[in-house]
Amino acid sequence: MKHAFWVCLQFLIVLLPNAAQAGDAIIIGATPLQQRFLTCVAQISADDLRDTPNPNERLTIVILEHHKFLETRDAFHAHKTKLAFSSLQARRIYLSARMLGDFDTLLRCITHELGHFATQSVYEDHAERAADRIRLRTRQACVSPIQ
Ligand SMILES: [Zn+2]
Repeated sequence: MKHAFWVCLQFLIVLLPNAAQAGDAIIIGATPLQQRFLTCVAQISADDLRDTPNPNERLTIVILEHHKFLETRDAFHAHKTKLAFSSLQARRIYLSARMLGDFDTLLRCITHELGHFATQSVYEDHAERAADRIRLRTRQACVSPIQ
């Protein structure tokens, strides 16, 4: 038993540097297809996010069941939003699982949130201008997670 434990531990230590590639977004609560899509979008926007505060902190995208999303949203006092919101300081984006069934909504929301990061602005029109560029490149480069 003790031996097995050590094998696992060493295995983990060996794997960790590869698993946690610098720069890749951390994605929580996604299916493998959603994860692939969100990783792709995050990679596409990486250049836009490079000159923002805390560039070495990895971007985290958290997908929550809709009722959990609403609770978290209220805790952040982001009452206006219905499906997505971001904490610029924490470099974290929260998405409601409810939006993940519709590609147009998903594309619109995730790129909009990344637009807030790229501009470091809380204003919607600023975010949208950056989001447009990211959206275009995402359509060209990323595979939809919706089959
Ligand atoms: Zn917004």
